[in-house]
Amino acid sequence: MSVTKLFFLPTGSCYLDQSAVNRTLPAGKLVEMPVWSFLLETTDGPILIDTGMPDSFVNNPNYYKGTKREGRVVPNMSEDDRIINVLKRVGYRLDDIQALISSHLHLDHAGGNGHFHKAPIFVQQAELDAAIGNNDYAPQECIFPDLPYHAIEGDYEVRPGIQILFTPGHSPGHQSILVKTKKSGYVLLTVDVAYVRQNFDNGVPFLTSDPEMATKSIQRMKEVIQEFRPSTVFFGHDQDQAKNCRTFPDYL
Ligand SMILES: [Zn+2]
Repeated sequence: MSVTKLFFLPTGSCYLDQSAVNRTLPAGKLVEMPVWSFLLETTDGPILIDTGMPDSFVNNPNYYKGTKREGRVVPNMSEDDRIINVLKRVGYRLDDIQALISSHLHLDHAGGNGHFHKAPIFVQQAELDAAIGNNDYAPQECIFPDLPYHAIEGDYEVRPGIQILFTPGHSPGHQSILVKTKKSGYVLLTVDVAYVRQNFDNGVPFLTSDPEMATKSIQRMKEVIQEFRPSTVFFGHDQDQAKNCRTFPDYL
């Protein structure tokens, strides 16, 4: 088994209050956060990482109107950003996916999970414990209780060359993925270990469930970078990085 291609797939964006991205800034101004899925083509078939936002966000920037998140979270999602359509562009149907890795169960990462009823969904037990049955955690479309979850605790090798690293802090069961591809060697998808580079490089605090754990997870990622020297280190929602990202059909 080896990873032949890693595709970066844009799946819309989400406007978030700037104080979530940088805790030292006052609330009241929105910043645009690109949202991602990643598709790994392997010699054993395609493996997906994250599924973007829920279908109920499509053309619905007012989803959170009348809730406590009104004005703080504004989805920007089109029909094209639904995971089913994103996969179609790459040439796959939902049933082709051999495994789904869910970095965590937030609204901008697990929105399409409910479409996957066959392939195992690799997710941390701590994340399931925090999210399932918790209406405040994410829209219900992100946290259906009866999906084929493959619950794990800590680090886990999904396949040779696809290593899950347990990096809690942003959420209780957050995980990052270290991938080794044929073309690019190691690629580190930190996901929401850091929303943007300044969280990672300069320790600028951002939205976390446990700030102390989040700091430790950033430190751990820095050690992984020292050890594996990845050709790319990718952050969850960094606009500058997104601008220079080689998205599908290009690949790493
Ligand atoms: Zn996120």
